[in-house]
Amino acid sequence: MQIVEINCKTILTRASGYLKPVCTHSLNPYTGCGFGRSSCGVGCYVRFNQWLTRGRMWGGFVDVKINAPEIYLKTVGAEKRWAEKRNQLFAIFLSSSTDPWQPIEKKYRVTRRLLEAIAANPPDSLILQTHSATICDDFSSIARLAEASDVRVQISIEGDRETLPGLPPPPCSLEDRLVALEKFSHAGISTVACLSPLYPLKAPEKFFARLAQTGVSAIVIDHFIEGDGTPDGSRTFKTPLPAAMEAIEPGSASLAYRDKIVDVARKYLPVGISQTGFAGNYAS
Ligand code: SF4
Repeated sequence: MQIVEINCKTILTRASGYLKPVCTHSLNPYTGCGFGRSSCGVGCYVRFNQWLTRGRMWGGFVDVKINAPEIYLKTVGAEKRWAEKRNQLFAIFLSSSTDPWQPIEKKYRVTRRLLEAIAANPPDSLILQTHSATICDDFSSIARLAEASDVRVQISIEGDRETLPGLPPPPCSLEDRLVALEKFSHAGISTVACLSPLYPLKAPEKFFARLAQTGVSAIVIDHFIEGDGTPDGSRTFKTPLPAAMEAIEPGSASLAYRDKIVDVARKYLPVGISQTGFAGNYAS
């Protein structure tokens, strides 16, 4: 793994494309992701972003934006005014192209320092998106932030299997992620489980009942088709993910499978689908 410390010039990126209905700004403390070689990295849509990878292998590099908190504090006022001028709530998505609680965070704590900076000048809303239960290391700061801002903790849990045959292990165990959701929900913080990308489920009824028990307020179901930034999932079809899904459950690499699972999930919890779900729109 190539780790490089960098000084960034900007840290709040104005949302465009897929993120536009979700937030006004994304915030990425790292470039690259230390989970890139785990199961979620296989179909990760960021790996196709050549502007960001600059030819480097996904999962093989992380640029650490060591000055991210200082740059946040320097630029947040102007970005807040930019959102206000457009009559939009200032809404930050942390993170869209990396995981804020990836392994290197334990060493650098850029995300932790960013949370402190965010608390000093908070947005109207803050979505925290991760694949890792390590988010619990920052439980108290997040709980404090939730008093000043509309905070939503979103944990990616692709389904009720740790991984799929032929794919590498997951970034974090399924049970640890469920327990993390429980911890935040029980503290009164809004939580959402993101089945992103949706894996074929072993026992859908049992799984959604378990998710409901964690206290999450909703589920996002995000099939790679309509979820990977192309209309037909063509990016993901270039990866081993669809074949691994089909090997377990024929038909699961299709939207018909997603729709079948949405019907089951709605018996237990409000469900949002792909982009509209990430934007906080759910239906029972
Ligand atoms: S944790 Fe997120 S950003 Fe990192 S490899 Fe997995 S899906 Fe991609």
